[in-house]
Amino acid sequence: MTPDYDVLIVGAGMVGAAVACALGQAGFKVGVVDHQPPAEFQPDAAPDLRVSALSPATIRVLERLGAWQHIEAMRVCPYRRMAVWEKLNIPLIGKHTRFNRTMFQASELNEPRLGYIVENNIVQLGLHAAMKSSQDVELICPARITTILTGNKQPQLQLDDGRTLTARLLVGADGAQSQVRDAAGMGVGAYDYEQQALVATVEIGGGPLDITWQAFTSTGPLALLPLPDVDGRSYASLVWYNLPDEVRKLKSMHEAVFLKAVREHFPSELPALKALHGRASFPLTRRHAHQYVKPGVALVGDAAHTINPLAGQGVNLGFMDVAWLAQTLSEARDQGADYASADVLKGYEKARRSDNRNMMLVMDAFYHLFSNEVTPLKVARNIGLAVAGRTRAGQKRVMRYAMGMEGRLPLLAQATR
Ligand SMILES: Cc1cc2nc3c(=O)[nH]c(=O)nc-3n(C[C@H](O)[C@H](O)[C@H](O)COP(=O)(O)OP(=O)(O)OC[C@H]3O[C@@H](n4cnc5c(N)ncnc54)[C@H](O)[C@@H]3O)c2cc1C
Repeated sequence: MTPDYDVLIVGAGMVGAAVACALGQAGFKVGVVDHQPPAEFQPDAAPDLRVSALSPATIRVLERLGAWQHIEAMRVCPYRRMAVWEKLNIPLIGKHTRFNRTMFQASELNEPRLGYIVENNIVQLGLHAAMKSSQDVELICPARITTILTGNKQPQLQLDDGRTLTARLLVGADGAQSQVRDAAGMGVGAYDYEQQALVATVEIGGGPLDITWQAFTSTGPLALLPLPDVDGRSYASLVWYNLPDEVRKLKSMHEAVFLKAVREHFPSELPALKALHGRASFPLTRRHAHQYVKPGVALVGDAAHTINPLAGQGVNLGFMDVAWLAQTLSEARDQGADYASADVLKGYEKARRSDNRNMMLVMDAFYHLFSNEVTPLKVARNIGLAVAGRTRAGQKRVMRYAMGMEGRLPLLAQATR
């Protein structure tokens, strides 16, 4: 029997909506199911709490999917500089204490910017707008899935309104708690970090920023990301990583007390903090699916992997999954192969697993190195940072990696085609 769709996607978040756009553009008949639509854009409201630093490679994917124009028309914040601090205490050398500062500049890479900070909801809305303009994509939302059947020739979704949807390929883009991953028995390894992330949107004085700040302390990193102006007011997103008890205290503090604590703990170069516009905390868990693919099933984005967000790479990895999956499926179909077969899908897993794993390991190395007061580690990291801070070639390599300018990129993410 002919299935209802070539590809059915569970989850129309940032990553699932991008898969739908990419496959619709490539001529696949796509159905995408989500239990809730994204919230409408509120142009007068302060920026939302959930934001992502998007790399230039991700921006190129979003442009080619026809989403970036919609995203930019709402609001985005480019950043051109990135400052990293670490307190230098070198016990073996003496009592010398100072901040080691490293500054990355887009101009050093002949790039106009290092990336953009964008609210997650706006990225999702931009992709939904692009999805609507594709005749090959059908959004089934709101919809509640009661059963996911995999393992047969055609994967099936049963909805609580009695409908049954079939496809040749089922894509799980349903986030960290993926039902598709569980239903297909793909397995996942998970590790809870001791720290949590407290995220706050603050109004700042002194006009818009074009710089991200990150300070490493023994209790965890502190970060400040620039956000777009709204009605002449400037905003920033604060991220404070700390132990759950400390995060609970910070979250329940009166606004003035909270802002005072931020001033005391963040480096003094930060702009004046005028008001708090919301805060929330997030537990941090590293997850990696044991398998990204099975015959007729593939996982993308947080359904396949979650990483420590301290360098803002999670959804950027998800967008690279999207671009590789779309390329793998299109090439297979064009060669007359069964794009839902294990052989084809393993090509996608091969393109992504080691990149995702490497980024996970780098984040873990940062986490363990900086969340520790053990003397040899402290000495090692201070010497390491001091050396890295002085080697421009080393800095550039780190920057190029974070920006998606190094390594093998899928067609949708390449600078020129
Ligand atoms: C504090 C914090 C800061 C971060 N900062 C950054 C950053 O700066 N840069 C970066 O790249 N990444 C960052 N990340 C990571 C990033 O937020 C995630 O990688 C990203 O949101 C994952 O997107 P996704 O579409 O895969 O999953 P999700 O955003 O979880 O979307 C899943 C979608 O599936 C739907 N869904 C789920 N289950 C079902 C179901 N059963 N039926 C139907 N629909 C379903 C949901 O409604 C949702 O729309 C950060 C994460 C955290 C926690």
